Amino acid sequence: MSDFLESTRQYVARACELLKIPKDVQIQLQTPHREVRVEINIKMDDDSIGTFMGFRVQHDNARGPFKGGLRYHHHVDSEEVTALASLMTWKTAVVEVPYGGAKGGIQCHARDLSARETQAITRSFIDGIHDVIGDRTDIPAPDMNTNGQVMAWIFDQYAKYHGYCPGVVTGKPIEIGGSQGRIAATGRGCVYATMEHLAAQGDSLAGKDVIVQGFGNVGSWAAKLYVEEGARIVGISDISGGYVNAEGINVDEAIAHCAAHGSLKGFSGADAIDGTALLTQPCDVLCPAAVAGVIDADVAKDVQASIVVEGANGPTTPAGDDTLRSRNIVVIPDIYANAGGVTVSYFEWAQNMQHFYWDETRVNNELKTVMQRSYANLAATAKSHNIDLRTAAFVMAVERVARATALRGI
Ligand code: NAD
Repeated sequence: MSDFLESTRQYVARACELLKIPKDVQIQLQTPHREVRVEINIKMDDDSIGTFMGFRVQHDNARGPFKGGLRYHHHVDSEEVTALASLMTWKTAVVEVPYGGAKGGIQCHARDLSARETQAITRSFIDGIHDVIGDRTDIPAPDMNTNGQVMAWIFDQYAKYHGYCPGVVTGKPIEIGGSQGRIAATGRGCVYATMEHLAAQGDSLAGKDVIVQGFGNVGSWAAKLYVEEGARIVGISDISGGYVNAEGINVDEAIAHCAAHGSLKGFSGADAIDGTALLTQPCDVLCPAAVAGVIDADVAKDVQASIVVEGANGPTTPAGDDTLRSRNIVVIPDIYANAGGVTVSYFEWAQNMQHFYWDETRVNNELKTVMQRSYANLAATAKSHNIDLRTAAFVMAVERVARATALRGI
């Protein structure tokens, strides 16, 4: 079993033990409902045939339709998608949006594909899974290397089988039923989560130094919004490496550089540094917003931040988590910290179902309310059980899902 799947199971098991959930119910909560695996064959730009594997894992739907992103990455496999699907079940429960958990992915080198190839892969994948997704069954969304354009192709391909159904997918462009504020939502949620935690200690983001790993959708928006709240970005990174500037990085310039060159490579507004070394540079807040497993025990022993905000899914290994805790570094866990994306996906879906659209101020205010309420519940749970925030998040989530499962019966 992969480390990521194993660690997700351990966190759920720990919460189940604390809640004294019987073993048979634990097995039911841990077991995914369905896994679909499809072969995707497309004509590549050089006229060869490209064959790819696509996955959709539906983990749990006791609290509502399955919900979760779609990732295009060469690491995608059944176990990674299963771990991510499970995290979605607990994440939707932590922020109390009426969904279950799912995840999907296509194993591919996303950056090497042309737009035409990406579109062909996406449409072929939907051909393979259209009968198990839907606005009341399972609703995909963007994740690594997928974006509004990919969601638009999903919306269109699904419509060929089932007719107009904007709620089948979220993270769509505004023109076809997307929500204001969705693109920024995950990064914004990370910033709100950090603000809530600091406010609970009588502190704020003003003057704080922040390092963000990953400069895609989540990382770049988080960096931009941290600055809007008065913090300084002293380090960023992407697949091309790390970049530091103790005086503060101009995030808009970094975003413009990425847009022009496809990555941060060659960015002149900061000094280049090894991507892993970036994680242990001096700062107040470290926001890993790229891939899983980057903060292991080795990295954790050298982290200088006092708060780690998990923008990515699963960026801290269980050993890394233990080390951070032993050093009194607070981890704001992924299933709360990056839940802004699924929360605004829920708003998008609610708007689609009602054909009534909100302005951005309303979206951001509603998101803030959800992040504030969820933090208050999280902190209260942590305090009452005398546990860390991650364990508290799983306790809250598992309790809610277990209750819904019991109410619905076998
Ligand atoms: P993205 O594809 O937009 O960006 C990923 C970024 O990470 C890119 O800048 C890439 O260059 C960088 N990266 C990849 N490997 C790296 C490495 N080894 N070191 C440093 N940087 C690396 O993806 P995203 O949507 O921003 O997602 C990032 C993370 O956030 C993922 O773990 C994803 O599951 C999670 N997440 C995303 C959303 C969302 O709404 N997009 C919601 C919740 C969680």
